[in-house]
Amino acid sequence: TRLLFQPRLLLTFLVLLALILTYRTRNDNGLALEDALYLTKNSLRELKQLYLPSKEQKLHHDAVEIDYPLGNAVNSFLPIDATIKYNTTERSGNITTNELRARYAAFSPILNHQVRGNFHILADGACSPVELGEEHTNKILIVMRGNCTFVEKVTNILGSNSKPLAVIVANDEPYRGLVTMFSNSFNQDGSLRLPVMFVSYESYQSLLAVESLDVVLTLSTASFGSWLSIMLSMILSPPLLILIFYLVVICGQNIKKRQASLLNSKLVRELTVYIFNNDHLIEANGLAHYLKVTGQTTNTPKDDSLVESPSTSTTSSTSHLNKIIINGIDIRESAQNLHVLTAPGDFYPSYKCSICLDKYTPLHSRVLILDCKHFYHERCLSNWLINFKRSCPLCNTVISAPNESLLAGQDRAFHYGSTDNDLEAQN
Ligand SMILES: [Zn+2]
Ligand SMILES: [Zn+2]
Repeated sequence: TRLLFQPRLLLTFLVLLALILTYRTRNDNGLALEDALYLTKNSLRELKQLYLPSKEQKLHHDAVEIDYPLGNAVNSFLPIDATIKYNTTERSGNITTNELRARYAAFSPILNHQVRGNFHILADGACSPVELGEEHTNKILIVMRGNCTFVEKVTNILGSNSKPLAVIVANDEPYRGLVTMFSNSFNQDGSLRLPVMFVSYESYQSLLAVESLDVVLTLSTASFGSWLSIMLSMILSPPLLILIFYLVVICGQNIKKRQASLLNSKLVRELTVYIFNNDHLIEANGLAHYLKVTGQTTNTPKDDSLVESPSTSTTSSTSHLNKIIINGIDIRESAQNLHVLTAPGDFYPSYKCSICLDKYTPLHSRVLILDCKHFYHERCLSNWLINFKRSCPLCNTVISAPNESLLAGQDRAFHYGSTDNDLEAQN
C-alpha cells in the first residue's frame, strides 16, 4: 500500500510546483493579482470616505497619505517592506538610481504615496532627548540601532520638534537581515503620523556615503507581491508540508476505504434476498407465487405444527427422508419451481439472526444467505459486509465473488408463474 501512495504524492508535489510557477509567471507578466489587491484597497478607501469622513479628513491634513496596517502582532508575522530610492550622478555624468530595501516597523503607518526629502543622519543613537537645528527640520532622519528601544528613539525624535518626514533605524551590525521593529503598547491608537522603517547596516553605509551630496530620498511601500511571497513561503514551510503529507495519506486511505465499501455494497446488492419460513427460505421475488401455490398468507404465518419435521431436529444424514409439506405440497420436491431453499441441504437452519440476536418472523423476515450456508437479516448482513468485514460473521468465510453459484442450474431470468401448470398438477 505504501508503494501505491508514492505516485499520488509525486502528483501532489507536481501540482504545488505548477501552482508556484503559474503564480510566478503571472506576477511577472500581468500583475493581475496585484491589480486586484489595489482595486480592493481603493474600494475600501472609498467606503471609509463615505462612512468615516471625520477620520479621513484628518488623514488629508498631512502631506503624506497614510494607511494603517492590520495590527502590531499581525504585522510582525507579515512584515511589509518599503523601498528607498535615490539618484546619484557618476563621474561620467550618468545618473543611476539606487534602490534600498527597508522594512516598516509593526507600529508604523504604511505609506500610500511616496515621501520625498533630504535626509540627515543623527550623530548619536537618539537615546536621550534630541536637539536639532533649524536646518534639520522636514527631513528624513536616520538613527543607528542600539543602546535603547526603538520606541524610545522614535519618541525622542518626535519630541525634538524637527518635524521629520520619516524615521529610519539602521542596523548596527553588518550582514544581518531586516528586522520588524515591534512594540506592544506604542501607537496602539494609530496616532503616529510618521512612517518608521528599518534598514540593514549595508544600506546605512550606502546612505552615509552620499550624505554630503544633498541626495533626495524617495520612500514608498514595496509592492504587495512581497506579502504573497511571504505567505507562499509560509505555506511551503516544513511543518505545513508534513501536515499536507499526512492529509494526503489520510485521504488516500479514506478513498481506499470508500472504494472497498462501494465494492462491498455492490456485492451485497447482488445477493438474492430470501424470505424466512423456518426450514425453508423463499426467494423474495417469488414470494407471491409461492404463497399462491401453497395457499398461505403473510398475515397468518404457518403454524409450526404443519411442519412434519422441525428443522432443529434434522440432520444432514437424514435430510432426504424429512419432508416439508404445506397444504399438501412437498416443498422439497418442488423447491426448484417454487424458488425455495430447504434446510439443511441449502442452508444451516437457525431461528435467530446471529448478528442482532433477534428471532426471525416466518414469511416476513428478509434474509441473505452466504456461500457458507449461514444466513442473516438482510439489513444486519448488509451493514456488516459494507462497514465491517467482507466475511461471514459466524465462520469467517471470506466472500469473494458475486454469489451466483447458490442456485446453480437455475435460470436467473426465470419467469415466475410459468410453471403454474406443473405445480397444479402436483396438487
Ligand atoms: Zn439481524
Ligand atoms: Zn458462515
